[in-house]
Amino acid sequence: MKTAARVEDVAEKLTSLAKRRGFVFPSSEIYGGAGATWDFGPLGVELKRNVKDSWWRAMVQLRDDIVGLDGAILMHPRVWEASGHIENFTDPLVECSHCRKRFRLDELPNGDALTSAWRANKLDLSKEPCPNCGSMPALSQPRRFNLMFKTFVGPVEDTASIAWLRPETAQSIFVDFESVQQATRRKLPFGIAQIGKAFRNEITPGNFIFRSREFEQMEMQYFSRAADAPRFYEEWKDLRRAWHVAQGIPANKLRFRDHAADERAHYAAAATDIEFEFPFGWREFEGIHYRTDYDLRRHSEFSGKDLSYFDDATNARFVPHVVETSVGADRATYAILCAAYDEEPDKEETRVVLRLRPHLAPYKIAVLPLSKKPELSALAREVWAAVRPHFMSTFDETQAIGRRYRRQDEIGTPLCVTVDFESLVDRAVTIRERDSMGQVRVPIAELIPALREKLGA
Ligand code: ATP
Repeated sequence: MKTAARVEDVAEKLTSLAKRRGFVFPSSEIYGGAGATWDFGPLGVELKRNVKDSWWRAMVQLRDDIVGLDGAILMHPRVWEASGHIENFTDPLVECSHCRKRFRLDELPNGDALTSAWRANKLDLSKEPCPNCGSMPALSQPRRFNLMFKTFVGPVEDTASIAWLRPETAQSIFVDFESVQQATRRKLPFGIAQIGKAFRNEITPGNFIFRSREFEQMEMQYFSRAADAPRFYEEWKDLRRAWHVAQGIPANKLRFRDHAADERAHYAAAATDIEFEFPFGWREFEGIHYRTDYDLRRHSEFSGKDLSYFDDATNARFVPHVVETSVGADRATYAILCAAYDEEPDKEETRVVLRLRPHLAPYKIAVLPLSKKPELSALAREVWAAVRPHFMSTFDETQAIGRRYRRQDEIGTPLCVTVDFESLVDRAVTIRERDSMGQVRVPIAELIPALREKLGA
């Protein structure tokens, strides 16, 4: 397979393809957009749902030790005091005194070194030009900017009614730990998994859906004895990496980046990012964190409710330790799209193909009558009706067949089923494959098992 697309073009091409074909639109676009929030269109909602289903299948359905949860977005405000988010969930923000643009300190050129210097109280920004207007010295000393969105519950806006939009899904897992454990009578080690919306008032959102202010997370907290946690941390690193490879991300586009002691989140004893090589460079898209007993201990302290675990094998009571895996559904979807995007020379033009794994493709099957003749259309619609209950599928009868194949290639549909004039006589159709473009003839009566086999389902 040739990869003709220049890497740096891929981000731009994907953004335009996503808009044109209905994967992702800027939110509130007719009003000029709503600041780094996105709507998933008819194809995007299928793709992202498939990504989430694949995660849920791997993390809940196929495991004998993990159960699911769907917690509320709005939680008691004390949750965020206990979790440390009110105090610590901040980014260092610097502002240019000339152009007034704001930047995250760690995203300036040389940001890692500047951030380390800041943490060591040795930061000097006098020789750092503003990345926007070039003025120097112009950048202010960093101030801590809390990323949580604040809102009010009830009709009165006072401090007693403050609520926060959750910046991560994890906290309801900790807060519900005891309820889940008792309802399911789980013994350590076990995990609780959750998929849901999270909100962060990012200073510098961007790179399409990579960093937005509203996004979805797929998080799992694995509870164990303290002595076992380091081993589970290593195990989860391998398992999560393998999951990404199974979604079609080449292993050579994935790497781990361990956090240095001074960059770890306030709760973490060890942390690593799984990074993917996006068109704009290596970036985190999953975090694996050894959170110790920090969260359960803090929630016990702040709520007054004992969240320790009673081990009937040893008659001991202790607070479990936690290994967390946390991946963005949107960011993972974006990585999968980047990895799937391919172009190859075609007769006159270029064939654009999304080489999505079949389980992730928005449509598995497209049914295409060769022409719009009523008798062909009728048979093709009959075939589509037979396919629909088995596979997410679509139907297209406008324009030449070659163009319709290209349209399906571009959105990643693995198989097309073509109904031609012969079909009226022999009750057979052609299955055409996206990747090889190979074609085989199959009787309509045997179509469903043939499609299932080709999809590897
Ligand atoms: P970053 O450094 O990129 O801001 P983070 O280290 O704050 O990310 P975590 O708090 O570990 O991220 O969140 C876990 C995962 O949630 C990330 O790996 C990413 O996939 C996703 N995520 C976090 N923030 C955003 C965002 N603003 N937009 C989209 N996805 C996000």
